[in-house]
Amino acid sequence: MKIALIAHDKKKPEMVNFAIAYQDILKAHELYATGTTGKKVNAATGLTIHCFQSGPLGGDQQIGAMIASNEMDLVIFLRDPLTAQPHEPDVNALLRLSDVYRIPLATNLASAEILMFALKHGEFHWRDLVSKES
Ligand code: PGA
Repeated sequence: MKIALIAHDKKKPEMVNFAIAYQDILKAHELYATGTTGKKVNAATGLTIHCFQSGPLGGDQQIGAMIASNEMDLVIFLRDPLTAQPHEPDVNALLRLSDVYRIPLATNLASAEILMFALKHGEFHWRDLVSKES
């Protein structure tokens, strides 16, 4: 499964702790991330991550492009709802595309953990079928 990790600045420590806690599950998958998030998670866990551009420089759109081509299976996007982001349109576009393509998406830690448990128990095998259809 291809999994995207994105965290706004104030949520990066949370993302790093999340990746440490669930690295045994995450390491079995192909990981993608926006630039800074990916570097921080890689430094803390050693997980192999394909890092795109930093979010404000187009990283969210690069992940969105993968979603639009049905190449992304799961998105963990720890958003900061209390801080204005310069790339708000890109953030909204990514959330929208996840809905358009019915990609499982978590925008906070509580739901991200539920997705990890579901992933561990093989609840996303249907994505393999959907991916093969495109
Ligand atoms: P970053 O991007 O991981 O490069 O900081 C995240 C974002 O703000 O979209």
